[in-house]
Amino acid sequence: MTALTLALSKGRIFDETLPLLRAAGIEVLEDPETSRKLILATNQPEVRVVLVRATDVPTYVQYGGADLGVTGLDTLIEHEAEWGGSAGLYTPLDLGIAKCRVSVAVRADFDYASAVRQGARLKVATKYTSIARDFFATKGVHVDMVKLYGSMELAPLTGLADAIVDLVSTGNTLKANHLVEVERIMDISSRLVVNQAALKLKQAPLRRLIEAFAAATGAKAQ
Ligand code: AMP
Repeated sequence: MTALTLALSKGRIFDETLPLLRAAGIEVLEDPETSRKLILATNQPEVRVVLVRATDVPTYVQYGGADLGVTGLDTLIEHEAEWGGSAGLYTPLDLGIAKCRVSVAVRADFDYASAVRQGARLKVATKYTSIARDFFATKGVHVDMVKLYGSMELAPLTGLADAIVDLVSTGNTLKANHLVEVERIMDISSRLVVNQAALKLKQAPLRRLIEAFAAATGAKAQ
């Protein structure tokens, strides 16, 4: 029996991956919101789920701590920038879940268009420094980047930054903090990531799972 380890992060990715697992005949036997366990059993003795921080999913999969995982495109791009690429990581499927977008937002009273037009240096606070740097470089806008790990919405409100680059889904968080979305950088959804060595060593069960996920999402496995 080949053991398969799937890395997931709690919250939206975990919740939206459950129906895909179910479609593949896999039921997770514990609820991460009530259990403190980090390794969750499933109804299939050879498949287990490990709960890791969202930004750690690509790391676990790339270095073999998990055979496969589900991670947002945003996290994947930042991981590749930080770790100098994604050798050993295979991304066969866009699962089309946890959809959102990466956008630029500013205070409602900040004249973003003029700041950009006049070539001003923009102070940008974000967790997504690589995505933000590439975006503003392409626009020819000079930025001072402030790396944050939590609540970016606070940065323009406290004078820490002129703009933020953050994930937006409904837009409610921005609205509640009197921020407005001024540019949409890219659309985001979650990807299936697979360890390439595992794909060779555990080819049959991994291929079966990838095909089941592909069938459940209507995506085509690459
Ligand atoms: P919303 O108020 O629906 O626009 O959601 C925005 C907040 O939720 C921000 O704090 C985002 O960082 C976070 N968020 C939105 N979509 C996602 C996602 N797919 N994955 C992780 N965080 C998200």
